[in-house]
Amino acid sequence: MLNVKNLTFSYNKTPVLKDISFEINPGENFAVIGESGSGKSTLLKALYGEFDLSFGEVFWKETEIFGPKHNLVIGYDFMKYVAQEFDLMPFISVEENIGKFLSNFFPEEKLKRTAELLEVVELTTFAKTKVKSLSGGQKQRVALARALAKQPEIILLDEPFSHIDNFKKQSLRRRVFNYLKEKNITCVVATHDKDDVLGFADQMIVLHNNKIQANAKPEQLYYNPKTPLVASFFGEFNIINKGIFYAHQLKIVEKSNLKATVIRSYFKGNYYLIEAVLNNQNVFFENETKLENNQKVFLQKHL
Ligand code: ADP
Ligand code: MG
Repeated sequence: MLNVKNLTFSYNKTPVLKDISFEINPGENFAVIGESGSGKSTLLKALYGEFDLSFGEVFWKETEIFGPKHNLVIGYDFMKYVAQEFDLMPFISVEENIGKFLSNFFPEEKLKRTAELLEVVELTTFAKTKVKSLSGGQKQRVALARALAKQPEIILLDEPFSHIDNFKKQSLRRRVFNYLKEKNITCVVATHDKDDVLGFADQMIVLHNNKIQANAKPEQLYYNPKTPLVASFFGEFNIINKGIFYAHQLKIVEKSNLKATVIRSYFKGNYYLIEAVLNNQNVFFENETKLENNQKVFLQKHL
């Protein structure tokens, strides 16, 4: 298991991560979420051994992860890391990049493995293409496949689908996360996208103000977000009488004590998101149809 104990780190004087502790079981999908600048990338790099920690320790099973002061070469064979800025070899092909660290002594296995990985990241037709002529999203997929090539025990993914367009994102996400589960590869995913978490993560932490604000299963945090920050990660929400409600939890009823005036309707595909004013406060709720501006409606919390 990955065991992080009291990890504390700062680039200069101001700490970025303070007293971070958590555990991840083998094979688990573990999500790290937080706003931009909250320290997600820093945490992943620290887990990888890129820094000397100010305090605390990181263990993968029996092995302590050390920083550059103890290691001439950063990183360990059992752990792979895909950075937000991936660094590939631009002048060789996609398949050569992926196979870069696979042994040439087993050419058949190498070919088979490369083909399998090309399929996972949906790049089979680009096998012979030079990396320099790929788009950002395609490069991101090559970086993913290369990290998976030698089948690590644990993989750290920093916003792994951020450069990938919506046409590909859904299927690629399923393929990659299902592949990791199938091979029992532990994964830590830093993201600000709820779709990277819901349906995939076994456990998640929320980073805020240099600390872990919450550590729970996605379902637990979704149903009981506790703070506006956590709720905002999952979707449009309202604070009414100190309670937090998602837009889909507010419904129009015949009569209630929550009387609101519609100001705007946003088409969302299978519903409209309605913006309304309730006691001088803007609220959002979902409705099947578009509503007239200035229309008065009664709302009720509906869980
Ligand atoms: P996130 O990935 O959640 O957006 P980062 O881990 O990249 O957050 O950054 C966390 C904080 O650390 C930010 O305030 C950022 O400006 C700072 N930071 C990141 N990298 C460096 C660096 N190399 N040197 C100094 N400060 C850094
Ligand atoms: Mg980041």
